Amino acid sequence: MHLPTGGHPAARRLAHFARFFFRSRILGRDVPLIASVKLTYRCNLACSACPFHRRAGEAGSHMDWDTARSSLDRLADMGCPIVVFEGGEPLLWSDHRHAFSELAGYAGKRFACTAATTNGTLGLDVPTDILWVSVDGTRETHNLLRSGSYDTVMENLKTSHHPRLYVHYTLSRQNWMDFPAAVRTISALPAVKGITVQLFYPYQQGEEPLLLGPTERREILGQAIRLKAGGYPILNSVWGLKAMVNNSWTCRARLLANVDPDGKISRGCYVKHRGVVVCSQCGFTPVAEASGAYSFIPGPLMAGLRIFLAR
Ligand code: SF4
Repeated sequence: MHLPTGGHPAARRLAHFARFFFRSRILGRDVPLIASVKLTYRCNLACSACPFHRRAGEAGSHMDWDTARSSLDRLADMGCPIVVFEGGEPLLWSDHRHAFSELAGYAGKRFACTAATTNGTLGLDVPTDILWVSVDGTRETHNLLRSGSYDTVMENLKTSHHPRLYVHYTLSRQNWMDFPAAVRTISALPAVKGITVQLFYPYQQGEEPLLLGPTERREILGQAIRLKAGGYPILNSVWGLKAMVNNSWTCRARLLANVDPDGKISRGCYVKHRGVVVCSQCGFTPVAEASGAYSFIPGPLMAGLRIFLAR
C-alpha cells in the first residue's frame, strides 16, 4: 500500500493514524500499530544488556533486500502506521548495492511514520522520520554497558542534523543512579528533541543482574516524573511512568508486529520467540504508552502525538 502523496505531510500522517483507529476500534479489525523490523543481528558493539548481537552468526541473521521489501509490503498491507528499524545495528544494514537509506526511503512511501533505533556510533543523518539513539548513563557507566562508545555517540549527537533525534535510555540496576545527570547532559544538546526511557528486561541469557528491584524501580520512575515536571524533555507520559511502577497497566500486545531478520512476522509481545515472557518484570514503556493511547487515555495519546507527529 502506498500512502497518498498530496497534502501536508503532517495531515497525511494524521489521516493514516485516524484510519488505523477507525479500522481497529470501530470495525474491530486486527491491525498492528507499531512494527519492529530487525534488519540484522550484526552489530559493531557488544552491549551487555542486548541478547541479539550474540546471534549474528546464526543462519537468517541478516535480511536481504527482497525479504526486507516484502516484509514492509506485508506490514503496509495490514495497515500498520509505524515501522521501527532495529537490530543488531540497523544503520550497518546493507544488501549488495542496497543501503539502509534506500530501504528507509522505500518505507517512507508506505508508512505514516518511520523510525530507527541506533547505538549512535555511525552517521546519524539517515532518512527516517525519527531516530532514537541509545545512551545508557554518564560516560563511565555508558562505556561499561555499551562497549566504550560514549565519546563517539556524544560527538555524533552534537553534530547530527536529523530533524527528530531522540535519546533512548534503558534504566537498569547498573545505570539508574546516573539517570538525572545523564538527562541534564543530554538536554543541553540542541540537536536532541527529547528523551524516552524504558526499563531493562532480562532475556534470561546472563543479563539478569541488570534487572531493577522493586524499590529501585519505584525510586527511578518517581525521579523521571520529577525531572519531567522540572521541564526536562522526557517524552514518556506521567501516566505511563506511574503505570510501570507495579505494571498496573493492561497490555495490548496485539498492537505489535515483530519482524525477524529471516523475514518471519509474529504478532504480540516483543519477547515472544526471543526470551521468556514475564509480564510482572515488563519494562517496555512503548507498549504501555501504545496500550494507553489505544484506550484513549489522554497522557499517552498526547505523548504519542508529540513523539510521532510533532515537528
Ligand atoms: S512482557 Fe510487557 S509487552 Fe510483553 S506481554 Fe507482558 S506486559 Fe505486554
